[in-house]
Amino acid sequence: MTKIVATCFSAEEVRELRALLEQGQIPCETQAGTGEDGFETTNLLVAEEDYERACGIIEARETAREVVSRQLRGLRCPRCGSVDFNYVQDPLLAAKEVTAMKCRHCGEMFSR
Ligand SMILES: [Zn+2]
Repeated sequence: MTKIVATCFSAEEVRELRALLEQGQIPCETQAGTGEDGFETTNLLVAEEDYERACGIIEARETAREVVSRQLRGLRCPRCGSVDFNYVQDPLLAAKEVTAMKCRHCGEMFSR
């Protein structure tokens, strides 16, 4: 049995994710798919026993990308300068279109 571990929207993304999975010794297969809005996508499939580990690898990449995008936007903790923070779900702030964040490094709460 194989499971879909990721859906890619570009050939570049497929190459990148395949390379990461191969580094982790996880064999993967590709399968053409169609996204909800008719875009062509490529699904990456891994064996069921490798699924958890493959998800971990892919999540780590997402986190790394998110950190890079925060650095590019200059988003960082005002107290310690860390870019390692979580978004805080706060309906009151969300209603005011304010994004609240909590630093994972020093615990500072800040918003933008
Ligand atoms: Zn901090």
